[in-house]
Amino acid sequence: MILFKNVTKVYKNGTKALDNINIRINDGEFVFITGHSGAGKSTMIHLLTCEDTPTEGKLVVNGVEPKKLSRRQIPKYRRGIGVVFQDFRLIPTMTVYDNIAFAMRVVGKGGREVKRRVTSALELVGLSHKAKEYPNHLSGGEQQRVALARAIINSPQIIIADEPTGNVDPQMSIEIMKLLNTINKNGISVVVVTHEQALVEAFKKREIRIEGGKVSFDTADNAASEDSEQPQRGRVQSND
Ligand code: ADP
Repeated sequence: MILFKNVTKVYKNGTKALDNINIRINDGEFVFITGHSGAGKSTMIHLLTCEDTPTEGKLVVNGVEPKKLSRRQIPKYRRGIGVVFQDFRLIPTMTVYDNIAFAMRVVGKGGREVKRRVTSALELVGLSHKAKEYPNHLSGGEQQRVALARAIINSPQIIIADEPTGNVDPQMSIEIMKLLNTINKNGISVVVVTHEQALVEAFKKREIRIEGGKVSFDTADNAASEDSEQPQRGRVQSND
Protein backbone atom coordinates (compact mmCIF):
# COMPACT_ATOMS: atom_id res chain seq x y z
CA MET A 1 0.00 0.00 0.00
CA ILE A 2 1.15 3.52 -0.80
CA LEU A 3 -0.14 6.38 1.29
CA PHE A 4 0.61 10.04 0.80
CA LYS A 5 -0.89 11.87 3.73
CA ASN A 6 -0.75 15.66 3.54
CA VAL A 7 2.59 15.38 1.73
CA THR A 8 4.30 18.62 0.79
CA LYS A 9 7.70 18.90 -0.83
CA VAL A 10 9.54 22.20 -0.95
CA TYR A 11 12.95 22.19 -2.61
CA LYS A 12 15.86 24.15 -1.20
CA ASN A 13 15.33 26.93 -3.74
CA GLY A 14 11.80 27.42 -2.39
CA THR A 15 9.91 25.62 -5.18
CA LYS A 16 6.84 23.89 -3.77
CA ALA A 17 6.77 20.80 -5.99
CA LEU A 18 4.06 18.98 -4.01
CA ASP A 19 1.39 20.78 -2.06
CA ASN A 20 -0.57 18.75 0.48
CA ILE A 21 -0.96 15.53 -1.52
CA ASN A 22 -3.38 12.88 -0.22
CA ILE A 23 -3.45 9.60 -2.12
CA ARG A 24 -3.99 6.02 -1.13
CA ILE A 25 -3.02 3.23 -3.54
CA ASN A 26 -4.04 -0.18 -2.31
CA ASP A 27 -2.14 -3.42 -2.83
CA GLY A 28 -2.76 -4.85 -6.27
CA GLU A 29 -4.03 -1.60 -7.80
CA PHE A 30 -3.11 -0.27 -11.25
CA VAL A 31 -2.89 3.50 -11.29
CA PHE A 32 -1.97 6.14 -13.82
CA ILE A 33 -0.42 9.33 -12.51
CA THR A 34 -0.83 12.03 -15.12
CA GLY A 35 -0.04 15.69 -15.41
CA HIS A 36 1.93 18.19 -17.45
CA SER A 37 5.65 18.72 -17.21
CA GLY A 38 6.52 20.39 -13.92
CA ALA A 39 3.36 19.14 -12.20
CA GLY A 40 5.28 17.21 -9.55
CA LYS A 41 5.21 13.62 -10.87
CA SER A 42 8.97 13.01 -10.71
CA THR A 43 9.06 14.43 -7.23
CA MET A 44 6.45 11.87 -6.20
CA ILE A 45 8.59 9.09 -7.69
CA HIS A 46 11.70 10.33 -5.88
CA LEU A 47 9.82 10.25 -2.58
CA LEU A 48 8.60 6.71 -3.30
CA THR A 49 12.08 5.46 -4.17
CA CYS A 50 13.53 7.21 -1.11
CA GLU A 51 15.84 9.42 -3.15
CA ASP A 52 14.23 12.35 -1.36
CA THR A 53 11.95 12.91 1.62
CA PRO A 54 8.77 14.94 2.17
CA THR A 55 9.13 18.37 3.75
CA GLU A 56 5.84 17.90 5.54
CA GLY A 57 3.29 15.11 5.89
CA LYS A 58 3.71 11.39 5.86
CA LEU A 59 4.51 8.86 3.16
CA VAL A 60 3.97 5.19 3.96
CA VAL A 61 4.96 2.45 1.50
CA ASN A 62 4.28 -1.18 2.27
CA GLY A 63 3.91 -0.29 5.94
CA VAL A 64 7.21 1.59 6.07
CA GLU A 65 7.93 5.31 6.25
CA PRO A 66 10.92 5.62 3.90
CA LYS A 67 12.10 8.79 5.59
CA LYS A 68 12.65 6.84 8.82
CA LEU A 69 14.92 4.26 7.23
CA SER A 70 18.60 4.22 8.02
CA ARG A 71 21.04 4.29 5.13
CA ARG A 72 21.64 0.57 5.67
CA GLN A 73 17.92 -0.23 5.37
CA ILE A 74 17.31 1.68 2.14
CA PRO A 75 18.58 -0.97 -0.36
CA LYS A 76 16.17 -3.55 1.07
CA TYR A 77 13.32 -1.05 0.94
CA ARG A 78 14.14 -0.28 -2.70
CA ARG A 79 14.03 -3.96 -3.61
CA GLY A 80 10.31 -3.83 -2.84
CA ILE A 81 9.89 -1.37 -5.70
CA GLY A 82 10.79 -2.15 -9.31
CA VAL A 83 11.34 0.96 -11.40
CA VAL A 84 11.13 1.26 -15.18
CA PHE A 85 12.43 4.42 -16.83
CA GLN A 86 11.64 6.15 -20.10
CA ASP A 87 15.27 5.70 -21.24
CA PHE A 88 15.42 1.99 -20.20
CA ARG A 89 18.77 2.29 -18.37
CA LEU A 90 20.11 -1.08 -19.44
CA ILE A 91 23.81 -1.79 -19.13
CA PRO A 92 25.15 -1.64 -22.72
CA THR A 93 28.08 -4.00 -22.12
CA MET A 94 25.88 -6.80 -20.79
CA THR A 95 23.64 -9.14 -22.73
CA VAL A 96 19.89 -9.08 -22.23
CA TYR A 97 20.18 -12.15 -20.01
CA ASP A 98 22.93 -10.61 -17.88
CA ASN A 99 21.13 -7.28 -17.54
CA ILE A 100 18.29 -9.13 -15.85
CA ALA A 101 20.44 -11.63 -13.96
CA PHE A 102 22.63 -8.80 -12.65
CA ALA A 103 19.71 -7.38 -10.69
CA MET A 104 19.49 -10.71 -8.86
CA ARG A 105 23.24 -11.15 -8.44
CA VAL A 106 23.66 -7.78 -6.75
CA VAL A 107 21.31 -8.95 -4.04
CA GLY A 108 23.34 -12.09 -3.52
CA LYS A 109 21.30 -14.58 -5.54
CA GLY A 110 23.08 -17.08 -7.70
CA GLY A 111 23.08 -20.44 -9.41
CA ARG A 112 20.00 -22.22 -10.62
CA GLU A 113 17.57 -19.78 -9.08
CA VAL A 114 18.94 -16.98 -11.28
CA LYS A 115 18.69 -19.13 -14.39
CA ARG A 116 15.18 -20.28 -13.63
CA ARG A 117 13.85 -16.82 -12.85
CA VAL A 118 15.58 -14.99 -15.70
CA THR A 119 14.38 -17.62 -18.17
CA SER A 120 10.83 -17.23 -16.97
CA ALA A 121 10.98 -13.40 -16.95
CA LEU A 122 12.27 -13.47 -20.54
CA GLU A 123 9.38 -15.75 -21.49
CA LEU A 124 6.91 -13.39 -19.85
CA VAL A 125 8.15 -10.43 -21.90
CA GLY A 126 8.45 -12.51 -25.08
CA LEU A 127 12.21 -12.13 -25.51
CA SER A 128 13.66 -15.58 -24.87
CA HIS A 129 15.15 -15.51 -28.36
CA LYS A 130 17.07 -12.29 -27.59
CA ALA A 131 18.76 -13.49 -24.40
CA LYS A 132 22.25 -13.30 -25.89
CA GLU A 133 21.82 -9.97 -27.67
CA TYR A 134 23.17 -6.67 -26.42
CA PRO A 135 20.75 -3.80 -25.73
CA ASN A 136 21.90 -1.69 -28.69
CA HIS A 137 20.78 -4.47 -31.04
CA LEU A 138 17.23 -4.21 -29.76
CA SER A 139 14.36 -1.88 -30.65
CA GLY A 140 13.09 0.61 -28.07
CA GLY A 141 10.11 -1.60 -27.32
CA GLU A 142 12.35 -4.64 -26.83
CA GLN A 143 14.68 -2.72 -24.54
CA GLN A 144 11.73 -1.60 -22.47
CA ARG A 145 10.55 -5.20 -22.19
CA VAL A 146 14.01 -6.17 -20.91
CA ALA A 147 13.77 -3.32 -18.40
CA LEU A 148 10.39 -4.67 -17.30
CA ALA A 149 11.81 -8.16 -16.84
CA ARG A 150 14.62 -6.67 -14.76
CA ALA A 151 12.15 -4.64 -12.69
CA ILE A 152 10.15 -7.71 -11.66
CA ILE A 153 13.03 -10.15 -11.20
CA ASN A 154 13.35 -9.67 -7.44
CA SER A 155 9.58 -9.98 -6.89
CA PRO A 156 8.80 -6.40 -5.85
CA GLN A 157 5.39 -5.50 -4.41
CA ILE A 158 5.21 -2.37 -6.53
CA ILE A 159 6.28 -1.45 -10.05
CA ILE A 160 6.73 2.22 -10.87
CA ALA A 161 6.95 2.94 -14.58
CA ASP A 162 8.12 6.49 -15.35
CA GLU A 163 6.92 7.39 -18.85
CA PRO A 164 7.54 3.79 -19.96
CA THR A 165 6.26 4.39 -23.46
CA GLY A 166 8.09 7.68 -24.08
CA ASN A 167 10.69 6.09 -26.38
CA VAL A 168 8.55 3.37 -27.87
CA ASP A 169 6.39 3.32 -30.99
CA PRO A 170 2.59 3.43 -30.54
CA GLN A 171 1.99 -0.26 -31.30
CA MET A 172 4.69 -1.32 -28.85
CA SER A 173 3.32 1.13 -26.27
CA ILE A 174 0.17 -0.95 -26.20
CA GLU A 175 2.25 -4.13 -25.75
CA ILE A 176 4.18 -2.55 -22.87
CA MET A 177 0.94 -1.55 -21.21
CA LYS A 178 -0.49 -5.04 -21.70
CA LEU A 179 2.61 -6.46 -20.05
CA LEU A 180 2.22 -4.10 -17.11
CA ASN A 181 -1.37 -5.27 -16.92
CA THR A 182 -0.25 -8.91 -16.83
CA ILE A 183 2.28 -8.09 -14.12
CA ASN A 184 -0.50 -6.37 -12.18
CA LYS A 185 -2.72 -9.44 -12.53
CA ASN A 186 0.05 -11.40 -10.82
CA GLY A 187 -0.60 -9.27 -7.74
CA ILE A 188 1.98 -6.50 -8.13
CA SER A 189 0.76 -2.93 -7.73
CA VAL A 190 1.55 -0.87 -10.82
CA VAL A 191 1.97 2.90 -10.92
CA VAL A 192 2.42 4.32 -14.42
CA VAL A 193 3.49 7.94 -14.69
CA THR A 194 2.60 9.29 -18.11
CA HIS A 195 1.45 12.31 -20.02
CA GLU A 196 0.06 10.15 -22.84
CA GLN A 197 -3.64 10.64 -22.39
CA ALA A 198 -4.48 8.20 -25.20
CA LEU A 199 -2.97 5.34 -23.20
CA VAL A 200 -4.87 6.31 -20.10
CA GLU A 201 -8.10 6.36 -22.06
CA ALA A 202 -7.36 3.02 -23.74
CA PHE A 203 -6.69 1.18 -20.50
CA LYS A 204 -9.49 2.52 -18.29
CA LYS A 205 -7.65 2.35 -15.00
CA ARG A 206 -7.64 4.69 -12.06
CA GLU A 207 -6.15 8.05 -12.99
CA ILE A 208 -4.70 10.53 -10.54
CA ARG A 209 -4.01 13.88 -12.16
CA ILE A 210 -1.39 16.17 -10.66
CA GLU A 211 -1.44 19.87 -11.45
CA GLY A 212 0.80 22.44 -9.79
CA GLY A 213 1.78 19.96 -7.07
CA LYS A 214 -1.82 19.15 -6.13
CA VAL A 215 -4.17 16.31 -6.96
CA SER A 216 -6.58 17.91 -9.41
CA PHE A 217 -8.63 14.77 -9.73
CA ASP A 218 -8.61 11.11 -8.84
CA THR A 219 -11.01 8.86 -10.71
CA ALA A 220 -11.21 6.58 -7.69
CA ASP A 221 -12.39 9.58 -5.75
CA ASN A 222 -10.61 8.38 -2.68
CA ALA A 223 -8.25 11.01 -1.36
CA ALA A 224 -6.87 9.07 1.52
CA SER A 225 -6.90 8.99 5.20
CA GLU A 226 -4.57 6.47 6.74
CA ASP A 227 -6.84 5.73 9.66
CA SER A 228 -10.26 6.70 10.78
CA GLU A 229 -9.44 9.75 12.86
CA GLN A 230 -10.68 12.03 10.09
CA PRO A 231 -12.35 10.08 7.34
CA GLN A 232 -11.81 11.81 4.04
CA ARG A 233 -13.12 9.31 1.56
CA GLY A 234 -14.88 10.94 -1.30
CA ARG A 235 -13.01 14.17 -0.90
CA VAL A 236 -10.83 15.08 -3.81
CA GLN A 237 -8.48 17.99 -3.75
CA SER A 238 -8.91 20.60 -6.38
CA ASN A 239 -6.88 23.50 -7.53
CA ASP A 240 -9.58 26.09 -7.22
P1 ADP B 1 7.17 16.51 -13.41
O1 ADP B 1 7.88 15.23 -13.15
O2 ADP B 1 5.69 16.40 -13.33
O3 ADP B 1 7.61 17.16 -14.70
P2 ADP B 1 8.81 17.56 -11.23
O4 ADP B 1 8.46 16.79 -10.02
O5 ADP B 1 10.08 17.23 -11.93
O6 ADP B 1 7.57 17.55 -12.25
O7 ADP B 1 8.91 19.11 -10.85
C1 ADP B 1 7.94 19.78 -10.04
C2 ADP B 1 8.43 21.20 -9.78
O8 ADP B 1 9.59 21.13 -8.95
C3 ADP B 1 8.88 21.95 -11.03
O9 ADP B 1 8.58 23.31 -10.83
C4 ADP B 1 10.39 21.74 -11.05
O10 ADP B 1 11.04 22.80 -11.71
C5 ADP B 1 10.72 21.72 -9.58
N1 ADP B 1 11.88 20.87 -9.23
C6 ADP B 1 12.05 19.57 -9.52
N2 ADP B 1 13.20 19.10 -9.00
C7 ADP B 1 13.77 20.16 -8.36
C8 ADP B 1 14.97 20.33 -7.59
N3 ADP B 1 15.81 19.32 -7.39
N4 ADP B 1 15.23 21.55 -7.08
C9 ADP B 1 14.36 22.57 -7.27
N5 ADP B 1 13.21 22.47 -7.95
C10 ADP B 1 12.92 21.28 -8.49
